[in-house]
Amino acid sequence: MTQNILVLPGDGIGQEIIGEALKVLRTLKADYGLDVEMEEALVGGTAYDEKGSPLPDDTLALAKDADAVLLGAVGGHKWESLPIAVRPEKGLLGLRSELGLFANLRPAILYPQLADASTLKPEIVSGLDIMIVRELTGGIYFGQPRGVRELENGEREGFNTLVYKESEVERIAKVAFDIARKRNNRVCSVDKANVLECTELWRDVVTQTHSSFSDVQLSHMYVDNAAMQLVRAPKQFDVIVTTNMFGDILSDCAAMLTGSIGMLPSASLNETGQGMYEPIHGSAPDIAGQNKANPLATILSVSMMLRYTLNEPDMAEHIDRSVSAVLDDGLRTEDIYSDGMQKVSTIEMGDAVVAKLKELNN
Ligand code: NAD
Repeated sequence: MTQNILVLPGDGIGQEIIGEALKVLRTLKADYGLDVEMEEALVGGTAYDEKGSPLPDDTLALAKDADAVLLGAVGGHKWESLPIAVRPEKGLLGLRSELGLFANLRPAILYPQLADASTLKPEIVSGLDIMIVRELTGGIYFGQPRGVRELENGEREGFNTLVYKESEVERIAKVAFDIARKRNNRVCSVDKANVLECTELWRDVVTQTHSSFSDVQLSHMYVDNAAMQLVRAPKQFDVIVTTNMFGDILSDCAAMLTGSIGMLPSASLNETGQGMYEPIHGSAPDIAGQNKANPLATILSVSMMLRYTLNEPDMAEHIDRSVSAVLDDGLRTEDIYSDGMQKVSTIEMGDAVVAKLKELNN
């Protein structure tokens, strides 16, 4: 059955990197028999300029109907002074909540060819492959009550609420265990159960849920230790599952272990397996329109889409191998360039991946 992909280039380098990801999708359609249709729509600042909203109604309707959404990036200086309600980032947040995307998957992979890009010693990070599964629609970012109130003495007090229902913890734990089964079968659940009752419950529910996944190895770690371990010995982790806020922080830390923001994809999934796929980086206004951006994070987001929503793991594998092969050939966009390598543009990098994909199909 034909599956539908909604393509949302967004702002800044979004159009350029999505252009290369589309070449990859078209190659898979033409040469590998991938049965998908692609449609484009507006999101972010570009959508605000044309339609007065960062998430126009027609974009949202198309997203709800699609099997998967492929997003470039949103945001830029031009829209920074707009009211928060219509800022480009609201388009992203709106999509996440309207589609119920509760599971955020952020791999931190360091290709051995790029081990020098990390600020950590190559032997600590070379070959790193961690998957962080972050709860995305609950926890302290959404808990009520929240706000800033004035006390009797005139001093202001800010407050937020960390809250998780058992069902919210159970469903994210299941996602983590399922993913671990497709990888190295280990899950580390990260919490602060020694201080926060809410995450004591988190630990209980993860442990209970584990009884249906006893083939997967489960460990627990406090978040402060997890932060230390990520920079001390990151290769000890396979899958990390954690709350919204801890995941926000730890996934950025893990991303930086790789030293190459232009290489990292992400997925956000809902209960039906529908997903939004996007690079972890932003719209990079400093290099937008210059044919310099690294398109590999977006191309690898297509690979995640094939694995987690479109159910085409072999094609995903072909993308991953093609990316690795272009790195083996020494091709580098400016952000991952080092001496002795061949500097290429966004378009040249996309073309090189497509050429490898075609080669692997022969
Ligand atoms: P950024 O990720 O856009 O850029 C940070 C640095 O990394 C810049 O120097 C940029 O040139 C570089 N970079 C990022 N992606 C790259 C790529 N593919 N290839 C080469 N270099 C790359 O973060 P920022 O500068 O803090 O934010 C810029 C805008 O993006 C802001 O408006 C921000 O709100 C938005 N943003 C959007 C998302 C998203 O759409 N998911 C995520 C983060 C930031």
